Amino acid sequence: MEYISTRNPDTKVSFSQAVEHGLAPDGGLYIPSQLPDLKPYLEAWETLSYSELCKAFFELFATDIPKEALDEIIDRSYLSFDDPAIAPIRKLEDNLLVLELFHGPTLAFKDFALQFLGNLYEYQIKKLGKNIAVLGATSGDTGAAAIHGLLGKSGVTSFILYPNGRISPLQERQMTCTEASNVFPLAIEGSFDDAQTAMKTVFEDREFADEVGLSAVNSINLARILAQCVYYLSAFYRLPKETREDFTFVVPTGNFGNVLAGWMVQQMGVPIKGFQVATNQNDILHRLFETGVYAQEAVAPSLAPSMDIQVASNFERFLYYAVNGNSDKVCTIIKTFKSTGTFVFEDFNRDTFTSSRTSDEEIASIIKKVYEKYGYVVDPHTACGFAETIDGPSIILATAHPAKFPDTIEKSIGLEVLHPSLESFKTKPIVKYSVEPNPEAIKQFMREHL
Ligand SMILES: *Cc1c(COP(=O)(O)O)cnc(C)c1O
Repeated sequence: MEYISTRNPDTKVSFSQAVEHGLAPDGGLYIPSQLPDLKPYLEAWETLSYSELCKAFFELFATDIPKEALDEIIDRSYLSFDDPAIAPIRKLEDNLLVLELFHGPTLAFKDFALQFLGNLYEYQIKKLGKNIAVLGATSGDTGAAAIHGLLGKSGVTSFILYPNGRISPLQERQMTCTEASNVFPLAIEGSFDDAQTAMKTVFEDREFADEVGLSAVNSINLARILAQCVYYLSAFYRLPKETREDFTFVVPTGNFGNVLAGWMVQQMGVPIKGFQVATNQNDILHRLFETGVYAQEAVAPSLAPSMDIQVASNFERFLYYAVNGNSDKVCTIIKTFKSTGTFVFEDFNRDTFTSSRTSDEEIASIIKKVYEKYGYVVDPHTACGFAETIDGPSIILATAHPAKFPDTIEKSIGLEVLHPSLESFKTKPIVKYSVEPNPEAIKQFMREHL
C-alpha cells in the first residue's frame, strides 16, 4: 500500500515513511492512495478479538512491516488497558449505547492510537538506527497519551506544546508529573490553535525536521487515524447483528480525527449508517455541516477543553475525498481558508454526517440528566454526544473517563469521581517549561534540549 499527500498525488511514500514524517513535505496530510475494500473480510472478522481485528486490519495498511513484527507491536499496545474487551459497550437503552474508549493508561481515547504509535516508533528506531524528536500540540489528552505512549522508549525525546491554563489540572499533571527525563511539556501563552499553527510551521522547515528527526504525534499522523478505525470495526461487530446497520455513531469532535476514522471505515465498505459530529460551543464543524460555510471564529474555552478547536486539522483529509481527490482544489480551499478564515462551499456534500453543538450549560445539565436517568457518569466531552438532536439507534463514543474532569462532575452531580491511575499524580512535582508560541522559539528550545 502506498500513501499520498492530500496536496499532491505525486508524493508517494510507504507506511513507515508516512508514520515517520507525520506531515507530508508539502504541508498536506498522508492518506492511503486507495482505500481497501473490507467487504470480502467482513464475515471472517466477525469473531475476532480486539487485537486480532487490529492485526487483520493493519496487515492491509502496514505492508512494509513484517507480519510478525506488526503483530508483536499490536499485542503490546493494548496490554495496559483495564477492560478485557478493550473498547467495551455499555447499554443505557436498547437503542442508546455507549462505546467506552477510556480504558487505556491515560483514560482517554487517544491511548488507542498513541500506545500503538509509541511501539511503532520504537520498532522503527531500532530498525533505522535513527533517533527521533516528537513534537506535538495538545488540547489536553493527546499530550498525556503521547507522553505515556513514548515513556521509556529509547531514542525518543518528546516535546509537547499546550495552552497554559486551558487544560484541566489533572490533564496537566498527567503530562508534567511523569518524572521522565526525555519529556518536555511546553506551556505556551495562547490557544490550542496557536500551538498547532506554530507546530505546523516547524514541520514545514524540512531542514530542521531532518536535523532532529522530527515526527508528529498529532492526529495528523496517519497511524493514529488507522489505529482508531479498529474500534469502529470492533463496535460494529458488537452491535446487535439484526440492527447494527441502523446505528449512528455519535462522536464528540474537535480536530476531526476520531470521527474521520469511523468515516474511513464506512468508505471501506463497512455498512455503518452515519455519524453525528458532536461539537461543544466551538462549533466550526457544526456550522459547516449545517450551512456549507467553513468559517473560523475565536476559540472560546469550554468545559470540554479537548474539543476547544476551530481549525480542525483532519478536515483536510475529508476534504480531499469530498472534492474527489482533486488535490489542486484542496490546495486552493486551504489557501483561501488560511488567508481569509472562511471558505464557502458551493454545494457542500455532507455525506452521512449530521452535527450538533452543545453549550457549557447544556454539558452540565446533560451530565446530571444522564446520571439521574441511568446512574451513569459521563465526562464533559462525552456529554456533548447526548445533545437533544440525537435520534434513532445511537452509539455514543465516550472519549474520556469522568475522573479526569472532577470539578465539572462535582458541580453537575455533587459527586467526587476518582480513578486509581490519577491518584498517584496528585503528589508528584510539576515539571513544565514555558516557551513563546512561535516556530523559531520552539526550534531553539528543541535544539537546546536534544
Ligand atoms: C481529543 C479529544 C476529543 C476530540 O477528538 P478529535 O479527534 O480531535 O475530534 C474529544 N474528547 C476527548 C476527551 C479528547 O481527548
